[in-house]
Amino acid sequence: MIIDTHCHLDVAEFDADRGAVLARARTAGVAGIVIPAIHAAGWDGLLGLCASADDLYPALGLHPVYLDRHHDSDLRGLERAIAEHPVLAVGEIGLDYYLPELDRAGQQALFEAQLSIAKSADLPVLLHVRKAHDDVLAILRRIRVKGGIAHAFNGSIQQAQQYLDLGFRLGFGGMVTFTRSSRLRRLAAELPGEAIVLETDAPDMTVAAHRGERNSPEYLPDVLQALAEIRGEEPGELAGLTTANARAVLRIAVANEGRSRY
Ligand SMILES: [Zn+2]
Repeated sequence: MIIDTHCHLDVAEFDADRGAVLARARTAGVAGIVIPAIHAAGWDGLLGLCASADDLYPALGLHPVYLDRHHDSDLRGLERAIAEHPVLAVGEIGLDYYLPELDRAGQQALFEAQLSIAKSADLPVLLHVRKAHDDVLAILRRIRVKGGIAHAFNGSIQQAQQYLDLGFRLGFGGMVTFTRSSRLRRLAAELPGEAIVLETDAPDMTVAAHRGERNSPEYLPDVLQALAEIRGEEPGELAGLTTANARAVLRIAVANEGRSRY
């Protein structure tokens, strides 16, 4: 059993065959899928999808890359929505310095406001970070949230350690299945197993075996397999460990314990 800690199953790319994708993912051993939000207009659809199945978990937030689409009132909306719905985390939120046209001060203000909301609600966060780890870490040291996941982590081992010290886990996805990702694969081999959670980021960032295609949560076993090979571990053991990591940091109860997920 494995958990996809970052999958945009709610987006239009899955409208034609979402049920079939989900069925194949379950057959492949995916026991849970965390669906992070992008912008407020998507929240209702995302919540509706997650309400339709026990193994889909919603996160709500305002993605930094879509800065221009967010409204000031969305922050109030976020506070209200997470108070009213069984949301697992605030996300995805963060800083993206990779895209030069994105206003950094605007992103930082949005990120800090959402961290404060997560802190008040006692929720972990799902982070999107590109070329901005040091700024994100500095802000996380100032606004202490209940940990979370740095998704698609691609920083240094030193930055990884700082996230771990702040109660975060690091998400690894399709990139590790490409042998050319040598720096990322070295990092994945060096980290303690307790640091790692699995993700697809579907429909983006697909795995090597499905290069050029839509990514899908059903390919998550490819990520597990690649990580196990890189680390010289048994896939079954790494599956158990990464699933335990995801459940601990996102506080997902084990379904067969017969109690509420939250
Ligand atoms: Zn994402």
